[in-house]
Amino acid sequence: MSDPIALFDVKAQQSLIRADLDRRIAAVLDSGRFINGPEVAELEATLAAFAGCGHAVGVSSGTDALQIAMMAEGIGPGDAVFLPAFTYTATAEVPLVLGAKPVFVDVAAESFNLDIADLERRIALVKAEGRLRPRAVVGVDLFGLPADWQAIEATCAREGMFALDDAAQAFGAALDGRRLGRWGHAAALSFYPTKTLGAYGDGGALLTDDADRAELYRSLRTHGEGKTRYEVERTGMNGRLDTIQATILLAKMSLFEGELAQRRRLGAAYDAALAGRVGVQVAQQGAESCYGLYTIRLPDPEARGRVQQALSAQRIGSGIYYPKALHHQPAYATHHAASIAGGPPPLPVSEALCHQVLSLPMHPYMSEADATRAAETVLAAL
Ligand SMILES: *Cc1c(COP(=O)(O)O)cnc(C)c1O
Repeated sequence: MSDPIALFDVKAQQSLIRADLDRRIAAVLDSGRFINGPEVAELEATLAAFAGCGHAVGVSSGTDALQIAMMAEGIGPGDAVFLPAFTYTATAEVPLVLGAKPVFVDVAAESFNLDIADLERRIALVKAEGRLRPRAVVGVDLFGLPADWQAIEATCAREGMFALDDAAQAFGAALDGRRLGRWGHAAALSFYPTKTLGAYGDGGALLTDDADRAELYRSLRTHGEGKTRYEVERTGMNGRLDTIQATILLAKMSLFEGELAQRRRLGAAYDAALAGRVGVQVAQQGAESCYGLYTIRLPDPEARGRVQQALSAQRIGSGIYYPKALHHQPAYATHHAASIAGGPPPLPVSEALCHQVLSLPMHPYMSEADATRAAETVLAAL
């Protein structure tokens, strides 16, 4: 039997940088600067240089990055935050934690990202009703593929709304030659271990070109501190990135460009085998995915079940991201129903995708031959 192929592999990389990791972690242990060590600022400079943006602010997770970004805008009760119905739960949770209302928007069948026509329709409905103030759009670059940022930026500029890029799955992706981190007013990254740049624990960052926003983010991640440590200027939170995670991420950044190139080769190998045979995520002109995941669309849940079984019989990993649209989740269903008077319009693409999508193995320590074998197993099961 052939070797197994894992959906993710968060350990293979370690053998390449193990000595550097050990040396770096030991240096933090020796320094005792477990919080706010110099490695945090060094990582921030490295991330900003990579993305080509003015500022990076390390924070405790991708979720906290989203929360700090929304706190900085003063988003709260009475505000509507527009976001896709087909994404990870954190995107929707944050506006509710701050007292704002999520308004779920459908995604496009080709890209699985925000459907701009549906976004415009829902903004118009909320404005017409006059109960909530349209305040922000959170675009998610699902599975590493950039959302339609030109359109989201244009809509937000016209409406005076905050454009937040939830790039938790998409560090390394680019649109029109500009890496994410320079689209929207700010971008939130997650360093959860399975993301394209993953820590050995939780972590995240905010990227922005706006110096005032970056300064606010630094204050908010440290309890809203002012110019001196014991001056509290605003309500903040404990949202800092650990020094040990920062130094681990610095070690991993030395491999990151090469890993991205391998993810793109794997994406191309999957596309070559699968495009035209099953549904694949289609990039808009100028969008370069970083392939956080490679996700296909099968005709129906029965076909998906057959394919998953065939993959599992070959010890090839797969996963369903996401089995339930957010507006159907118990935590969000009532908020959704109440978000637009008379009931919000349906979200048919988000609902269909939940029954059809399947993510295939994608990590930089598998080969193109592995991707081709996974793809052939999919096709044989159909
Ligand atoms: C992973 C993820 C988050 C949350 O990141 P954490 O670091 O786990 O808090 C937010 N949004 C999306 C789209 C994600 O995939």
